Amino acid sequence: MDFTYSAKDAAFRDELRAWLAANLPAGWGETVFGPEDEDENAMFRLDWEGKLYAGGWNGIAWPVKYGGRGASLVEQAIFAEEMARARAPEGLNIIGRNLVATTLLHHGSEEQRQRYLPKIISGEEVWCQGFSEPNAGSDLASIRCRAVREGDHFVINGQKIWTSFAQYAQWCILLARTDTDLPKHQGISFLLVDMSTPGISIRPLRQISGESEFNETFFDNVKVPVANLVGDLNGGWKIAMTTLAYERGPEDALGRQIHFKQELDALIETAATLKRGKGTAIDDPTVRQKLAKSVVEIEVMRLNCLRAFSKALKGKPRGPEASMNKLYWSHVTQNMYETALEALGPLAPLDGGDPLSPGEGRFQLSFLRSKAFTIYSGSSEIQRNIIAERVLGLPK
Ligand SMILES: Cc1cc2nc3c(=O)[nH]c(=O)nc-3n(C[C@H](O)[C@H](O)[C@H](O)COP(=O)(O)OP(=O)(O)OC[C@H]3O[C@@H](n4cnc5c(N)ncnc54)[C@H](O)[C@@H]3O)c2cc1C
Repeated sequence: MDFTYSAKDAAFRDELRAWLAANLPAGWGETVFGPEDEDENAMFRLDWEGKLYAGGWNGIAWPVKYGGRGASLVEQAIFAEEMARARAPEGLNIIGRNLVATTLLHHGSEEQRQRYLPKIISGEEVWCQGFSEPNAGSDLASIRCRAVREGDHFVINGQKIWTSFAQYAQWCILLARTDTDLPKHQGISFLLVDMSTPGISIRPLRQISGESEFNETFFDNVKVPVANLVGDLNGGWKIAMTTLAYERGPEDALGRQIHFKQELDALIETAATLKRGKGTAIDDPTVRQKLAKSVVEIEVMRLNCLRAFSKALKGKPRGPEASMNKLYWSHVTQNMYETALEALGPLAPLDGGDPLSPGEGRFQLSFLRSKAFTIYSGSSEIQRNIIAERVLGLPK
């Protein structure tokens, strides 16, 4: 691993830092935050996405031809680091930018790229991902949502679930079964669906955190033009694997690590000032030891990220270490938030609206949100299966 940056990389970092300083409100992430209301927050994130685009900072990894900067892997890592350091808001169109665009760049026709990429990068069209179904999550190839060809359209019938951002999305990447006679991995097609098409209905799902990021999405005789098929008919599985590879990739892992380190620093500061008996919460040896364990684990997370990154820089293919990293960071950060609640003791259940709540309820909310870490992008059991089979060579 070589930790030095070239002069070009340093200039890239300086340019981004200057832009962030000029475009984020003063005190952002410390005393100034985004709106609390979920819908207002989503629109705020969309607005931020527009600012990034106007400044030339959205979709930086994309080829220049499609509006990106053709940023190198190191520049992408610097971008993720600086955004995390500045606690910059996350744009709303994460699925469009990270998953849909990458998939279209690999498998889309030139016509599809020209049609969809400019509106993804500008934030004009938000996307959602219609993959999971009530009986097809980890076993995604079991999807039952049907697409039947009728003339120049497919007619879609079925249900998707856990569709994040469907309530804000103009478009959806949809996996649908186009042949029920073929083996299950072979009868699936990858479609681009306009969410304003008649027959689509969305029902929000309330999460443990009180938020409704994701939804149930129903398709009732929804007509999708054949031109919206990506790749070959019944060739959707291979395309979906490209989408998922980018969902689990190392590009934003360093930024995520910096974010968790900030959370841990804030927790240590809170524990050091929170009155407990004659001293503070951090005087409790159990709390102190658990915090120290988190410090070590979050640092190991950074080193794991750098190792995966270093491998990617050498042009080596994305391997099963993505699963090791995902498994590691998701559990380590869940442990950190459990320690947070233990350190806060009886004040832990208070939410942000209560003046006695330490850290304005952020640890309680983060603890609840962290429950999803070991489920999305492949649950922990699935990651362990991948490691067992592909790294350790154990039988299925
Ligand atoms: C916050 C969040 C956002 C999401 N957003 C989206 C989205 O936008 N679009 C979308 O399509 N999906 C989305 N998902 C869904 C996500 O991809 C699935 O939840 C995930 O794939 C697991 O599927 P499942 O929920 O059906 O659980 P299941 O697959 O039913 O798993 C249930 C349990 O069984 C275990 N299990 C399953 N199979 C095996 C096996 N072979 N070996 C051992 N254990 C096994 C699992 O680990 C889990 O513990 C989101 C999920 C979350 C939590």
